[in-house]
Amino acid sequence: MTAAIIDGKAFAAKVRAEVAGHVARLKEEHGLQPGLAVVLVGEDPASQVYVSSKGKQTVEVGMASIEHKLPADTSEAVLLDLIGKLNADPKIHGILVQLPLPAHLNSELVINTIDPAKDVDGFHISNVGLLGTGQKSMVPCTPLGCLMMLRDHHGKLAGMNAVVVGRSNIVGKPMAQLLLGDSCTVTIAHSRTKDLAAVCRGADILVAAVGRPEMITGDMVKPGATVIDVGINRIEREGKAKLVGDVHFESAAAVAGAITPVPGGVGPMTIACLLANTLTACCRAHGLPEPA
Ligand code: NDP
Repeated sequence: MTAAIIDGKAFAAKVRAEVAGHVARLKEEHGLQPGLAVVLVGEDPASQVYVSSKGKQTVEVGMASIEHKLPADTSEAVLLDLIGKLNADPKIHGILVQLPLPAHLNSELVINTIDPAKDVDGFHISNVGLLGTGQKSMVPCTPLGCLMMLRDHHGKLAGMNAVVVGRSNIVGKPMAQLLLGDSCTVTIAHSRTKDLAAVCRGADILVAAVGRPEMITGDMVKPGATVIDVGINRIEREGKAKLVGDVHFESAAAVAGAITPVPGGVGPMTIACLLANTLTACCRAHGLPEPA
């Protein structure tokens, strides 16, 4: 292996410590406590794990964590009513509706009912538009975490060729917008891309967000490139459950200059950015300067 490991776990711990410092100052100087409400509908096991992990880390940085766990057959009207109440609650600064929602609920409608100022996931159409036009917005947590790691590793990203594999609204597209905002030359690849390997080999920065275990292999990586693996795939290998990314770690690490591991890369940064966004939302709501 030649690649440097980008340690998302350690970086996320640093971000959380900074957030905790700001939260303590908000309490001391302004009597404020940022509050994050997480809404979970149904019993999807992965979502339950994410929600409990988010709740635990929210409390650890000194914020208020409010969890609403609703049954899988919750009606849209009931869910929208809850979001309306959270929008109006001055103690709540961030609202996150855990996705995916059960099929009978209209995810777009639900997300677009959240007050954009409290939309700490950055999925509301207003925030998507603000990000796309380079204006101040709430930035989706996973791509934000990736960008922070890239900036930390490289300093300035201007002029680098970035390839994002995946064009989802929650990862691929906002990731591409953020890289463009940092003046990278950005290509978005997807399932219809011709000769994906050749496209990937042109990347100084390669972000994999495909949802296919270990699909990006070493022969698709330019020597010395930085590889960010967003994928979280649960697979079974030799009779054991295992978590792997969208990148084949061993072969990619033999070629890349730097790489994020799974687990311990993008995942921890996502929750750290959620906490940072909640802090930002609280500061904006009270007209206070935003932490850098
Ligand atoms: P989606 O399924 O919404 O999107 C996957 C994208 O990958 C699509 O744009 C799809 O293309 C593209 N794709 C699928 N197969 C191929 C292929 N063979 N070649 C090229 N492109 C392909 O996934 P998400 O964006 O929601 O998530 C991506 C990954 O990131 C998943 O593993 C998910 O678990 C993980 N994730 C991790 C998070 C974290 O905190 N670390 C947070 C969110 C997601 P097309 O549009 O043409 O179908």
